[in-house]
Amino acid sequence: MALRFYFIEFTYLLASILFILGLKGLSHPETAKRGMHLAEFGMLMAIVGTLLHFDIVSYELIIVGLVVGSLVGGAMAYWVPMTAMPQRTALSHAFGAFAAALVGVAEYMRHGAELGDVKMAAINFEVMLGSLTTTGSLVAFAKLQGLTRGTPMTFRGQNVFNMALLAAVLGLFVYLIIFPGSAAAFYTMMGLAFVFGVMLVLPIGAADMPVVMSLLNSYAGLAAAATGFVLSNNVLIIAGTLDGFSGFILSILMCRAMNRSIWNVLFGAFGSAAEGAREGGEQGEMREVNVEDIAVQMAYAKQVVFVPGYGLATAQAQHVVRELASTLEERGVSVKYAIHPVAGRMPGHMNVLLAEANVPYSQLYELEQINHDFPATDVAVVIGANDVVNPDARDNPNSPIAGMPTLEVDRAHSVVVLKRGAGRGFSGLENPLFFKPVTGMLYGDAKDSLTRLVQAVQQA
Ligand code: NAP
Repeated sequence: MALRFYFIEFTYLLASILFILGLKGLSHPETAKRGMHLAEFGMLMAIVGTLLHFDIVSYELIIVGLVVGSLVGGAMAYWVPMTAMPQRTALSHAFGAFAAALVGVAEYMRHGAELGDVKMAAINFEVMLGSLTTTGSLVAFAKLQGLTRGTPMTFRGQNVFNMALLAAVLGLFVYLIIFPGSAAAFYTMMGLAFVFGVMLVLPIGAADMPVVMSLLNSYAGLAAAATGFVLSNNVLIIAGTLDGFSGFILSILMCRAMNRSIWNVLFGAFGSAAEGAREGGEQGEMREVNVEDIAVQMAYAKQVVFVPGYGLATAQAQHVVRELASTLEERGVSVKYAIHPVAGRMPGHMNVLLAEANVPYSQLYELEQINHDFPATDVAVVIGANDVVNPDARDNPNSPIAGMPTLEVDRAHSVVVLKRGAGRGFSGLENPLFFKPVTGMLYGDAKDSLTRLVQAVQQA
């Protein structure tokens, strides 16, 4: 018995250490894979420890859960494309948060009125955050998947209504600590938290969803930490806290990369401002260029900088861009990649794609590093990026993205933009870069255009 107890505690301790090392590994592209494997092993240890727990009365239902969960998780990992990763993550958060809320309900049903202040507060916290994260994540999923419109859904007095709703939830939270036996108050609090989750995400545009998701991730983590207090489970407390705070820090970092406050993201209805700007007038002519001319320019350049964006992900063009880079390097051209922190649809999106194509990390340059280098760049090749290279952020103080740090490609000697047509970026804003004399537009799917460029450079 004692041996089993120590073994369980050992697996939990090991799992916690592995989670911390895993997170540390994830903070750099070079160590990210190792970090992921360490965290996976940590999760395996936590599961082994939990399965040996003394409180388990029967394994049948647990095994059914393991089989169903593994099948769903495996199928999602296999079939969901990289471009749909944000909505897949939203769905996972909804499942995780709902599980945390259900654990809270189960504990309340078991102990109800006998719960002390601290445990009741922990259960309330878990059920409140778990419930609002469940519905908030489902709305985020619907927006990102295009099941509902992605633009902010607003109505008059919305912020006041939401604040009143939150006040009601918090009021019941406190009431339950004083009168834990009131099941009606408990389930009303849970129901209102479900509604609050929907109301919180409705006014936020799809473009801001990654920030919201990261914030909801943080809530789900804190709900799990509260579950850990309820169940006296140390590994849940540690993992939940790590999840909670890393999610929160990530939201802050994303806001900083867009030069916006978290308050503005949550309550600013950002997409609707962009809607207004959509009507902005014509900016001039776009100059179309052909593959052969660009290939010659690139083949005889000293330095070429690739600027990948969301379009690289949709076209799955990461392998071809690497091939083009190698072809250029064989001709003595220096190749770099400019990585914007919010390019694509999730943090690190471009790093993951380029790593998949074995692009050396030493060629990836962050925004602050590469912006100094553009004046010395012969050709900047923008591959399916739009918002992250929008010069309005720097030049137009009235733009909704004014002040957002962007990649200043227009300072290069020549810019080529690979995109399919006149499609806007996720912010919905017009991009004056495409109308500048320095810019040439190469229309078509990014993968096709890059494939044609590889052939043309080889013949140049
Ligand atoms: P973007 O502004 O969304 O622009 C993507 C461009 O790619 C579009 O203009 C589209 O134009 C083009 N495109 C789409 N499919 C293509 C294909 N198959 N081939 C070639 N081009 C294609 O992308 P971004 O510059 O990467 O900016 C990311 C946006 O997401 C920013 O607004 C950012 O603030 C937001 N965001 C990201 C994160 C994150 O974590 N990454 C977080 C929060 C917000 P066509 O339709 O004409 O082809």
